[in-house]
This record gives sequence, C-alpha cells and structure tokens, in this order.
Amino acid sequence: MSGKNVVLFGPPGAGKGTQAVRLRDLLDVPHISTGDMFRYHIKNDTELGRTAKEYSNSGRLVPDEVTIAMVRDRLSQADVKDGFLLDGFPRSVPQAEALDKIISDLGITLDHVVNISVQDEEIRTRLAKRASIEGRADDADPAVIQNRIDTYKQQSEPCLSYYRPKGIVRDIDGIGSIEEVFDRIKAVFEK
Ligand code: AMP
Repeated sequence: MSGKNVVLFGPPGAGKGTQAVRLRDLLDVPHISTGDMFRYHIKNDTELGRTAKEYSNSGRLVPDEVTIAMVRDRLSQADVKDGFLLDGFPRSVPQAEALDKIISDLGITLDHVVNISVQDEEIRTRLAKRASIEGRADDADPAVIQNRIDTYKQQSEPCLSYYRPKGIVRDIDGIGSIEEVFDRIKAVFEK
C-alpha cells in the first residue's frame, strides 16, 4: 500500500466524515478531524471551545493560529508515526503551508490529498438533510450554509492550487453511494 500520510479534502457536505471512518479503518491510522476536535471543546466549554463556537456557529473558519497550534500539538503525538488521516485541515493556504512545516519538522512528507468533489446544489441538499438528522448548529440555517460554501471557495479551495504542482492531489467524484465513493478512494491506495 502506498504512503499513509493523508489529507481528506473537499467542500462541507462532500462526505469527508463518512468516508474518513472507512479510510481510517482501511489504512489503520488515526483519524484527525479538526471539526470533531472543535466540537469536543465546544461541548466541554473549554477556552478553545468558546473561541471556536463564535466562528463555527456562523460558518466561518476558526483563526489559523488557533487551528494550526491545535493540529501541531496533535501531530506531535506518537500515534501518528505510521500515518494519519487529516479531515478538515488544511482549510486555508496558510494552514497548508503550516502543515508542510509541521510534517517536515517530523521528517515526513504528505503522500495524498484526497479531494472529494461535489457540486454546490448537491452540497446544499446534503447539508440541509444532515441538519435534520444530526442537529448540527452550523447546518441548520441557510445563511450559515451559504457562508460555509463561500468560505470553502474563498479560503479552502485555493489549497488545491497549492498542492497540485506537488503531484499529490487525487480527485474523487463524490457523487454516488457511500460504497461507490469509497471504492474510488480505495483505488488510490491500491496503486
Ligand atoms: P467540519 O466538521 O470540518 O465542517 O468543521 C466544523 C467547523 O469547525 C467549521 O465550519 C469551522 O468553523 C471549524 N473548523 C474545522 N476545521 C477547521 C480548520 N481547519 N480551520 C478553521 N476552522 C475549522
């Protein structure tokens, strides 16, 4: 199997979280979701959680310095030595640059940016559906959904231009059943 230092990338509602659990099991590496980390802090009402809440409730990104410090801390733990699956990070070019620095300090490189793509209309439908199932505060309000899509386009999508010249972006069509999409992702690692 090819390298296991992986970023899972894509717009909100692309199915990153759903696919991440499957990919984590396939690769047997820790799943590091910045969204889950922030939700944990929000639930436990920590200082970090109080900061994160302000931003995530309106569909904006938590400031880079806060997010980068949290990820640097997580990637310094021993369990990532045989690989990791980053889900929801990086979400801005400064975060992508910071990640390069973090992993080069660890003496490793990034192997794959798995980019799940889904069109805007489908994203809106999926997020509205997820709001009614999971009750996520940031999925409930159409204005917040639009904000998250705009934030993705303005701040996160440019990460792809940052990674493409490095030859590590693996484009995955995110339309189809969970199994169909996962089969496409699996093929990346079977090469
Ligand atoms: P997610 O579950 O990945 O959609 O993340 C939920 C929310 O957490 C986002 O809308 C952001 O407010 C925040 N968040 C998650 N990951 C990041 C990140 N890499 N940078 C900044 N904010 C983030």
